[in-house]
Amino acid sequence: MAVRGHDYAPAPEAYRRTARVAPAVGAEVVLAQPRGFCAGVSRAVDTVERALSLYGRPVYVFHEIVHNGHVVADLAARGAVFVDAIADIPVGATTVFSAHGVSGAVYAAAAARGLRVIDATCPLVQKVHVQAKRYARLGYELVLIGHEGHEEVEGTVGSVDQPVHVVATVADVAALDLPATARVAYVTQTTLSVDDTAAVIKALEARFAGLVGPALDDICYATLNRQRAVRGLASMVDLFLVIGAANSSNSNRLREVAENEGVPAYLLPDASALNPDWLNGASRIGVTAGASAPEHLVTQLCTRLVELGARLVVEMPDVPEGVSFRLPSFLAVPSRPRARLLAAPTTA
Ligand code: SF4
Repeated sequence: MAVRGHDYAPAPEAYRRTARVAPAVGAEVVLAQPRGFCAGVSRAVDTVERALSLYGRPVYVFHEIVHNGHVVADLAARGAVFVDAIADIPVGATTVFSAHGVSGAVYAAAAARGLRVIDATCPLVQKVHVQAKRYARLGYELVLIGHEGHEEVEGTVGSVDQPVHVVATVADVAALDLPATARVAYVTQTTLSVDDTAAVIKALEARFAGLVGPALDDICYATLNRQRAVRGLASMVDLFLVIGAANSSNSNRLREVAENEGVPAYLLPDASALNPDWLNGASRIGVTAGASAPEHLVTQLCTRLVELGARLVVEMPDVPEGVSFRLPSFLAVPSRPRARLLAAPTTA
């Protein structure tokens, strides 16, 4: 296993006080690659920061900008105000829509209230909305593979003016109230488990002969890469720790991927939630982070594991993802004027 070593400072005093036994004595901690922030999350967080610096506080944000309490608390401390209803935003206020996307009704409510809207919907979620609208225009019954109640699912369902059947499992497909002859198209939430989604698509194909859809293309690159990394590392570790929020879809899927590979796995929001008992008997511990979890939380977890006796923290080789999304042009930081190239002085 090619890995890079890391030095981690002793744990902060607060951690030291709570340390009990040292079940991780001699354990090796292996950091998955890639992990943590994806391009859509970086863009959404940058959008709020830029809006604060351009327009001043407060900047209203509809829903959590990304599903991570630490990111939300940090932005709130700098002047972002998070709301779950457009009616709670003062008329005309600057408002950012979260990375998960919103429904047509939310756009309309914001327009009616005269809000200055900055849309931080991830471009990959926007792509799903475009697909859903196209299938609706073509007259298909629309099935969305995703988790009911998730904000991205609400936004995608509300992006079209027709009923959308939301299914999460093969059993949900069997229960669909549609005839076998129905013209059915499907789209998917971007942060699903690749394996589970493949099974649901297969079940849809078995039920509806003319099924159309984007295969697994709607599951975004960041979700795929982070799941692949966990799957690759699972056979080398005795335990997986996933940093991420309980309401983060992609973080939950990472924990499930590890469990499906037969490795006990825990999702935790930060190092303070680590239960030392989880580490009992683990000689190698895999660590990853969901796409909305900042890297400093991983560093704090490593510090805590070292405090509990971990011998070594190593990192899998870097896997460059090469994906970035530009900010909306009116938020972009102006580039510095380039110095004009003057003709070199000539000597007589
Ligand atoms: S996980 Fe994927 S779809 Fe979601 S914000 Fe990140 S890049 Fe966009």
